[in-house]
Amino acid sequence: MDAITNHMPTAELQALDAAHHMHPFTAQKDLAEKGARIITRANGVWLTDSEGNEMLDGMAGLWCVNIGYGRSELADAAARQMRELPYYNTFFQTSHVPAIALSAKLAELAPGDLNHVFFAGSGSEANDTNIRMVRHYWAMKGKPEKSIIISRKNAYHGSTMGAASLGGMVPMHEQGGLPIPDIHHIPQPNWWAEGGDISPEDFGFARAKELEKAIHELGEERVAAFIAEPVQGAGGVIVPPETYWPEIQRICDQYSILLIADEVICGFGRTGNWFGSQTMNIRPHIMTIAKGLSSGYAPIGGSIVCDEVANVIGQGEFNHGYTYSGHPVAASVALENLRILEEENVIGHVRDVAGPHLKEKWEALADHPLVGEAKICGMMASIALTPDKATRAAFAADAGTVGFICRERCFANNVVMRHVGDRMIISPPLVISTDEIDQLVERARRSLDECLEEVTQKGLLKSA
Ligand SMILES: *Cc1c(COP(=O)(O)O)cnc(C)c1O
Repeated sequence: MDAITNHMPTAELQALDAAHHMHPFTAQKDLAEKGARIITRANGVWLTDSEGNEMLDGMAGLWCVNIGYGRSELADAAARQMRELPYYNTFFQTSHVPAIALSAKLAELAPGDLNHVFFAGSGSEANDTNIRMVRHYWAMKGKPEKSIIISRKNAYHGSTMGAASLGGMVPMHEQGGLPIPDIHHIPQPNWWAEGGDISPEDFGFARAKELEKAIHELGEERVAAFIAEPVQGAGGVIVPPETYWPEIQRICDQYSILLIADEVICGFGRTGNWFGSQTMNIRPHIMTIAKGLSSGYAPIGGSIVCDEVANVIGQGEFNHGYTYSGHPVAASVALENLRILEEENVIGHVRDVAGPHLKEKWEALADHPLVGEAKICGMMASIALTPDKATRAAFAADAGTVGFICRERCFANNVVMRHVGDRMIISPPLVISTDEIDQLVERARRSLDECLEEVTQKGLLKSA
């Protein structure tokens, strides 16, 4: 038995938390009234809170704990590196072994000629790097006016000024003066919510054509790049129709613009390949990475860059970098994480065992009266809640009202699922067993039953 960590009573921790700790994406006032749920330890796919409740983590933290919790090899790697060389920078023509080894390993794993890595501390920072890198690339090629980056509505690319501007989340743009100039957003391939009467295939194709339309409107000579997540994550696990990505790739091939795949969620096994770009069969010039790169055990992100862009950028000084670019402790942890993913064949487990099992169980949820579509790609999945499956109607309440009720029922049933509006989403650790998948889906179904009861009682089962 492991020793149990001593800590203050939950109420005292919650009071200190409310008094001093400002939370991301949280209404602090509401949280203070309710008190935060305090997670104290974790193992495998299981979380323990300060009251001793054991919860199945259907979100892998925030989409990141791909190898599961409690892998002491990563703790050992961090401790070893801290003793040997806790920090050094990579700025002024210096380097260190962990950054060298990790960049070489990533070049080996990444497809095509994605052979160069610029490190950051997070996915947001990496996307800020990407904005500056693609604009600087075109400037180096004598085309400084090629500066517009096309992204998508409802995309999530991070929270810094640049990354949140790339993102297409309206509530984020409403705070702090976003987006920055020369970012353009096209509609997303969300058939359930926006497809109307056309088939998913026709809709996916039409939404891809929006990219070509935007290039024509803005002028090819003005557009630097297109950025997208292979599967939209925080936007609600929107799996695009199969017609979408082939047409996007065709457009990127036809016009001279760069393709950036934001692999922060899809990378490192989530979709059943090392990268979502492989699952979607696309050839990006740059991939954004973070989250699963270290399975969340240490903060690290980066951009994996193709030969052409790296070579052009490399002709002069790129006036950009972070104190912690390639941080040796984070890089060592990431290397150990990649070793585990590779040697334990975690991606094979997703592709051949856990993925197919979850798909079968998850898609069966579509027979629940509250569930419209059930979508899945590898180990990321979503269900759309609706009062009327046939018309794909929204509820006659503020978006997210029913999703929130469902999420609270999930917590009560000791399973962590997230809601994005009225979509429920999961992204469990990739090492989850088939038995644990059964428990996850069983708890999800129970939560849906209870949600339906509550929604019916409250008179919310009405179409907008
Ligand atoms: C989480 C996320 C980011 C931002 O990463 P941070 O490490 O939180 O800065 C960027 N892109 C995608 C697709 C993400 O899911």
